[in-house]
Amino acid sequence: MTLKGIKVKLYPTVAQQEAIENNFRLNRFLWNQLLGMQLAGHENGGSFVTKFGMNYLIKVMKIEFPFLKEAESTSFLYTSADLADSYDRFFKKQNGFPKFKSRRRPKNSYKSNCVNGNIQVVDNHYLKLPKVGLVKANGLHRVKDKIKSVVIHKKADGTFEATLQVAFEATTFESTGKSVGIDLGIADLAIQSDGYKLPNKQFERSLAKQKRQWERKLARRRQQALVKIEQAKAQEIELELSDFKNVQKAKEQVARINKKIANQRNNYLQQYTTSLVKKYDLIVLEDLKTKNLLQNRQLARSIADAAWAKIKSMLAYKCEWYGKELVLVNPAYTSQTCSHCGENTGKKPLRIRTFACPHCHTTGIDRDVNAAINILNKALAQR
Ligand SMILES: [Zn+2]
Repeated sequence: MTLKGIKVKLYPTVAQQEAIENNFRLNRFLWNQLLGMQLAGHENGGSFVTKFGMNYLIKVMKIEFPFLKEAESTSFLYTSADLADSYDRFFKKQNGFPKFKSRRRPKNSYKSNCVNGNIQVVDNHYLKLPKVGLVKANGLHRVKDKIKSVVIHKKADGTFEATLQVAFEATTFESTGKSVGIDLGIADLAIQSDGYKLPNKQFERSLAKQKRQWERKLARRRQQALVKIEQAKAQEIELELSDFKNVQKAKEQVARINKKIANQRNNYLQQYTTSLVKKYDLIVLEDLKTKNLLQNRQLARSIADAAWAKIKSMLAYKCEWYGKELVLVNPAYTSQTCSHCGENTGKKPLRIRTFACPHCHTTGIDRDVNAAINILNKALAQR
């Protein structure tokens, strides 16, 4: 059994936000109390109090500080475990001494354990959270397995999200004994060492007309609204853009179309990466940091950039889920080296699409496929 994390967006009401933030505060308070006790104990010659010792102390503290009972109680067990962990890493010299948590730079998250159905998906649109209630959420359709725990997090932009840890039976894909190297490109997003190319589909194209229409409508309506706001001001009436329903509607339509494009692109990459993990035991990618394709147009580049990052992260977690292996290699010289004899043939301009080797006289191989084979060979040479 493996755990996987599923992130969903939360839309808590004002009262629910307050309950969540109260949990942040109480867990921060508890952390500081426990750390203070550890320090005082140490000064008095005592030894480190273990996680179980701390959990006993929490019970005592709830009597001394009755407001601690407002907290989601399982989150306290994670806080004491975190502190024990923090000490553990300090003892192993992996990090510095545990610090007190300040109100100014708070850690805006807490973790709850799922016990007796206290955390549940309700009607696909609500997440039931202990001490918070039914919180409206987006993305819950992806939760199909048993929930083990949840981390509630408030992001820097003030929005809330939950990461659900779900238990899931890792249906490891059967071993195939096959390996593949993948070169990343722009016209084709991925070029495989076996010759397959994943085209960079222009998902925005099919919705481009609609999108342009709504963008124009939005601009026009906004302009008209601004004029009306000025006119109203002359009569001392305060109006804002948000008072104009047709402006809001156009805004929503543009956002909806953008989301649709993003979803289509995402599904495309999900399907591709799943098929890779099914088909190959070893998948070799070039390390993205070093990719340099400045001569390409800005937009195409940025779309490809985002797609490569997604392919890499999807492969990383899918390989882990399904028992396959992902290796990243430095792509240096992979496009200049002959995949047949291994000689470096020097830099060629991008317009030359087929690779020809003056050393072993290999000809007619696709330039990108040649690079993909080299990427695969680099990983195989490291073993
Ligand atoms: Zn050669």
